[in-house]
Amino acid sequence: MREIQRRGLLIILSSPSGAGKSTLAKRLMAWDPSLSFSVSATTRAPRPGEVDGREYYFKSRDDFAELTVTDQMLEHAEVFGNFYGTPRGPVEAQLAVGNDVLLDIDWQGGQQVRRSVLAKDVISIFILPPSIDELERRLRGRGQDSDEVIAGRMAKSRDEISHWGEYDYVIINHDADQATEELVTIVKAERARADRQPGLTEFVRGLNREFDAR
Ligand code: 5GP
Repeated sequence: MREIQRRGLLIILSSPSGAGKSTLAKRLMAWDPSLSFSVSATTRAPRPGEVDGREYYFKSRDDFAELTVTDQMLEHAEVFGNFYGTPRGPVEAQLAVGNDVLLDIDWQGGQQVRRSVLAKDVISIFILPPSIDELERRLRGRGQDSDEVIAGRMAKSRDEISHWGEYDYVIINHDADQATEELVTIVKAERARADRQPGLTEFVRGLNREFDAR
């Protein structure tokens, strides 16, 4: 089978924390291991079980500032009093070889990436919780954050949710299986778009050569 050359997609996933975004991101990666997850840099402290270079690159504020002033971040934002940002180099390298890249970033980062030079390769997906009670239940269920931190995250959620209309797609996460299926369907459809497959011209030339040879 001939492989069709395709430009890599930059898939932005945003949601309030607790809407199930990390689970959906992991399931999407399991569906297609060739997807590359963009590991962000952050100044927040690691949570138990988090590994430097896997969930995040954990940075001091000085080191983070250095990365932003030297333009090594594709986007960056302050969230819950800490800085978060997407290192530019790995994203560009993956897109250049036609791999899709998944970004788990907040609405501020989403806006910056949509306004960047990579805008034409971006698809953005917002995940909503089925209810606010469920959002709080999921936040508490993690058992990793203090009451004060959870209250702060709930307050921030309302703000995050207000940006849903800036996204190409919105999924309501009633059920992780169904939400994953919707996510997979969106990615499949976006990959099939004619304008994302510059290799199609050459492919159809090949079909025409086959016609000619008959
Ligand atoms: P957490 O501290 O729970 O891991 O993440 C808090 C929030 O920061 C989440 O909404 C997450 O999507 C967002 N976030 C994580 N990495 C980045 C990043 O690189 N850039 C931006 N703008 N937001 C990020």
